[in-house]
Parts: sequence; structure tokens; C-alpha cells
Amino acid sequence: MTEYRIGADFAQQLDDTDPLAAFRDRFHIPQTKDGRDALYFCGNSLGLQPKQTESAVLQELEDWKNLGVHGHLAAKNPWLPYHEFLTEHLAAIVGAKPVETVAANSLTVNLHLLMVSFYRPTKTRYKIIIETGAFPSDRYAAVSQIRFHDFDPEEALIELMPRDGEKTLRTGDILETIDREGDAVALVLLGGVQYYTGQCFDMEAITKAAHGKGCIAGFDLAHAAGNMVLKLHDWNVDFACWCSYKYLNAGPGSIGGFFVHERHAENTALPRFCGWWGHDKDTRFQMGPDFKPIRGAEGWQLSNPPILSLAAVKSALEVFAAAGGMRPLREKSVKLTGYLAFLLDALDTEAFEMMTPRDPAQRGCQISLTVKGGGGKAVFEKLESSGIVCDWREPDCIRLAPVPLYNRYRDVYHFVRIFAEALGLDDKMREVV
Ligand SMILES: *Cc1c(COP(=O)(O)O)cnc(C)c1O
Repeated sequence: MTEYRIGADFAQQLDDTDPLAAFRDRFHIPQTKDGRDALYFCGNSLGLQPKQTESAVLQELEDWKNLGVHGHLAAKNPWLPYHEFLTEHLAAIVGAKPVETVAANSLTVNLHLLMVSFYRPTKTRYKIIIETGAFPSDRYAAVSQIRFHDFDPEEALIELMPRDGEKTLRTGDILETIDREGDAVALVLLGGVQYYTGQCFDMEAITKAAHGKGCIAGFDLAHAAGNMVLKLHDWNVDFACWCSYKYLNAGPGSIGGFFVHERHAENTALPRFCGWWGHDKDTRFQMGPDFKPIRGAEGWQLSNPPILSLAAVKSALEVFAAAGGMRPLREKSVKLTGYLAFLLDALDTEAFEMMTPRDPAQRGCQISLTVKGGGGKAVFEKLESSGIVCDWREPDCIRLAPVPLYNRYRDVYHFVRIFAEALGLDDKMREVV
């Protein structure tokens, strides 16, 4: 455990001794109206742009300009196998083997494609477990898949609820529900990190419990990829998907990715929706009528991917690799988010509460705050006008994500000062100044 202290000097000291401090310079930091670096805490929604990304994208525009169709083979980074250039870094980020991972499509698309293969309801086993308050797209996907198979969502969708008076789920309660309902459950589909509360689920234990009852375990890693240390292969997760524009910093709407465990790599008995980019590479351009899948995750690809977007993903992943991967990043993240929690506690006020779990193992970069008494939106607006970029989620949540790649301890310190001011806590505020 890090021993934290209050005061600006301590924040400076943490920055001075931060082995990853230099990585901030690799990113463009949005500016406030008066020309200062914004205090950017929105990496959970849209990660910042790595400076190297512009030239990576321009390279592809340049090759297209000069080579036309020959760029497929003759571009500096040939477009035909382009997604393969990302696989190794991507696999490292989610703790997978390269054969289990691919960059393709976007998150909800991948969720549907994977559910086509992995949500195979029968008369007796047809339910899906999700968390209550799941990201809307995930719930829409689950409900529409249930309907697609002619089941009734009222009955087939199980939504895990926190206990009365609690904001987050207890692992024991999740496992108990899986145990109790499991015989009728086809799929357990949870977020890795819950987008609203910031709670990180115990994916290993959940997967084990799901498998113990004969269910498939799938995860939406939108808020976990590039945030947590993941071990999808070792945890035996069946499938997972994620987007690349949040913690992975690949730009708005950029190409996401997915994971299919090696156990399923050659399982052609699983139905899937097929497209030519999933077809065996050696015979793809023979343009034959019969689909022969590539072994592993690549076999679930549909289309030739948008290279301009993949260029941004590739560039962003290279920054993670340069930082030494998820371990050192997570180490800083635990310390940085812990520091935020410490300073918020130091305010010693009942004016707000943290809904994110206290236990660092159960959270990533994000802390979600609720201002009591309904003034949250006004507080949020004050933060915005003070040059803080964070976000507001209805009905009453301010989300903050100190991101280890580009946030400083001083950012956190200044945030807490401004937050205290916005809450009208002037006296208390002095305690953390
Ligand atoms: C951000 C996010 C999405 C977004 O889905 P897209 O298909 O990329 O638009 C979906 N699910 C979760 C849990 C998210 O956090």
C-alpha cells in the first residue's frame, strides 16, 4: 500500500518519481479556452490522441495516393495482412494468444457476431445473465438475441442487482446467482469493468462458476481493455470483445477487437456468420463458393478492414508496448486512482459519495461519484467551466478516469481542489491544499 499525504508538494513528488511520467508527452492534451492543458479525466470515454498517430494515418493516405490498388501488397505496411500487424500487441493487452485475438469491426457488431456462435439457446437452457444497469447497447444486444431465438426477454434475461442500499455487486452474489440459475442459463455476459460504477468483476471466478454449470462466459471489455491486467486465455473465458477508443486511445469509433478462446479455434460445429475476410488466407483469392474459416479469432472476421482506422489502432497499441505493457501501467494506475480516492476521503465530507468499490482489485482507473441531494449536474458544470474534462452519466453520476499513460498526480490534486470548491467546501478544501 502506498502511503499518501495531502498537499501539492506530495503530488509533485509523485510525478517526479513516476517512471511513466514521460509518456504524457506522447499525447496531445486538449487545451482550455485560456490555453492551459485541460485536466482530462475522460479516457474512459475517449482516450487522447497519441502524437505519433497522425503520421501513421498519413502514411496510409500517402500510400493510397501513390500506389492505388497496389498498396494492398506494396504499401509500407501492406493492407492485405494489415490487421495482423496489430495482433501481437492486442493479444498482450488482453492476455490472449495471438490466435485468439483479432482487431475487427466495432464493439456491438462483434458482440452480436459472437453471440451468434456462443449464445445457442435450447428449450431448457436459454437464459442470459447480465448486470442490471449494463451499458444500453449490451442490453439491447442481449434482448434482441433472445427475441431472435424466439424466447421472451422477460423470462430469459436475468439482471444481477446490487443489494438494497449498495451500488455495486458482490462477487459472492454473482456466483450464487450463477449457481442457482445456471442450469437454465446459456450465457453469462458481463462487463469486465462496469461502465457506470467502475466496478471490475472477478472474471476468472465468474468464468469458472459459469463453466461449472455448463454455461458460456463472455465479457464486454470496453472499459477493461487497456485498463486492467487481463488473462483471458488463462481464465478460460469463452469470448470477449472491446472497443479501441476508450483506454486504448485509437480514436473515435475506431476498430475494436475480439477474443475467442483457443478451445473454440477449430470448432466448425459452432454456427457463425461468415465473410470473406474470415476465409482461409491461402485460398481466399481463388474466390471459391465454399467457406473455409481461418483457425482462431480471425475466422470470425467478415470484411476487409478500414485501414485508416487500423493505422490509428496500430499506432496506439505501440504506445502501450513502449510503456512495457499493462503491468507497469496498472501499477501506476492503482497508485494514481488510489491517490484520487485518498484526496476525496481527505475532504471528509458527506456532500458526495464514491460508488466505485474501495478495493483496488475491484476497480480500474475510474472513480464514479454521486453528489448527494441532487446537485450533481451543477457541480459537473462547474468542473467543466474550470477546465476539467470528465463526464456526467444520468441519473446522478460523475465519472473520472485518471489514466496512467497521460494523467499526472498533479492533475488529480488540482481536480480535488476544484471539486471541493465546486461543492462549496472552502474550509475543508484548505486541508488538501
Ligand atoms: C462504450 C461501450 C460500448 C460502445 O459500443 P460501440 O459498439 O463501440 O458503439 C458498448 N458496451 C459497453 C459496455 C461500453 O462501455
